[in-house]
Amino acid sequence: MNHFELKGGELTCEDVPLARIAEAVGTPVYVYSSATLERHYTVLRDALVGAGLGEPLIAYAVKANSNVAVLRTLARLGAGADVVSEGEIRRALAAGVPPERIVFSGVGKTAGEIAFALETGVCEINVESEPELHLVNAVAQAMGRRAAVAIRVNPDVEAGGHAKISTGKADNKFGVSLSQAERLYANAANMAGVRPVGVTCHIGSQITDLAPLEAAFGKMRALVERLRAEGLAVERLDLGGGLGAPYFNQPTPPTPGDYAAMIARVMAGLTDLQFAFEPGRMIAANAGVLVARVLHINQRPDGRRFLVLDAAMNDLLRPAMYDAYHDIRPVAPREGDLAPYDVVGPICETGDTFTRDRLLPPLEAGDLVAFMTAGAYGAAMSSEYNSRLLAPEVLVKGADYAVVRPRPTYDDMLARERTAPWL
Ligand code: PLP
Repeated sequence: MNHFELKGGELTCEDVPLARIAEAVGTPVYVYSSATLERHYTVLRDALVGAGLGEPLIAYAVKANSNVAVLRTLARLGAGADVVSEGEIRRALAAGVPPERIVFSGVGKTAGEIAFALETGVCEINVESEPELHLVNAVAQAMGRRAAVAIRVNPDVEAGGHAKISTGKADNKFGVSLSQAERLYANAANMAGVRPVGVTCHIGSQITDLAPLEAAFGKMRALVERLRAEGLAVERLDLGGGLGAPYFNQPTPPTPGDYAAMIARVMAGLTDLQFAFEPGRMIAANAGVLVARVLHINQRPDGRRFLVLDAAMNDLLRPAMYDAYHDIRPVAPREGDLAPYDVVGPICETGDTFTRDRLLPPLEAGDLVAFMTAGAYGAAMSSEYNSRLLAPEVLVKGADYAVVRPRPTYDDMLARERTAPWL
């Protein structure tokens, strides 16, 4: 459920008409609903607690939507943060996420980033390879610290969905095999600079079937039991993120309740363990839309009709990158027959096509449209390609809204660059 609805013939976010925001802030613009963010976090937490999984650490995956106001909205509910760079650690801290709720993931952390994470006091560094374990050990020892680490396991499970966001097969770059994890965990227990506290996995994103998750989690449970049988302490089991969000017209993901019940079944009887989760998309995707304006409609003699928007692939990369589907809705729908449109942006690439032959109600130049389910991996993946300014971000709460990332100016954009001394 989300809080983008037609009210009085106009698409609104909570109690604010999207047209009002577009008028005041300009387009393209990302708009987020506080109520939807809060609801998604709370529904997940309640489902996990209700299934008897104790008080989990829900470390929201910052990469999905890293706006500090979004992070703060979730932090106020008790969310932690799953981060993959020093920049994301800094964002989480700026949003008020306590360091002891920050989990540091990622296949290629630098020594500098590891040192920063240790200074900050993050709760766990998710180690993804043997060389990384040695690097964390060395950095921590040099600082006179002992780093809490979890070993990221690649459980060799096909998550389904798009190949670019599948992460749990043996040939993906993430984590170590189950047998390597067992050996690394035992080695880590004997290292002066690290303390193994748990194991972690994350098999992909936009997962719409519980079966691969269940297969992976079964392997993780068996691993915890083997480690404990060897006399090694395991305090935390981090099951990653990956549960899909409902994108209109796409396979429907399992509910948080079904997800939690499956985990409770797989983990039954496993005691003295804290469960951790790293959800991104399921919390943020349906909490945001990208609002764009129709620049013109280019009608070809062969009947093809291009709807040219002021938003482009630099603002919302998912269709070009993953062939992702976003429902597109007129902000003030007109009565009339549906007709097919190719919806495109102004960038000089044919890849800057959001969709082809999409049936849409009547539209005219100047109309506003909203890309639904754009709150995750939308603004976070945007760029200034074609020297287009980053789209601003707006957070709505009830009848109020705030610009939480203003549109930069062209002077801001140019001020970041220097000329070379010989030019
Ligand atoms: N955790 C890790 C380690 C990830 O790599 C990702 C996504 O790439 C996530 C969590 C979040 O995944 P999702 O947004 O599908 O929940």
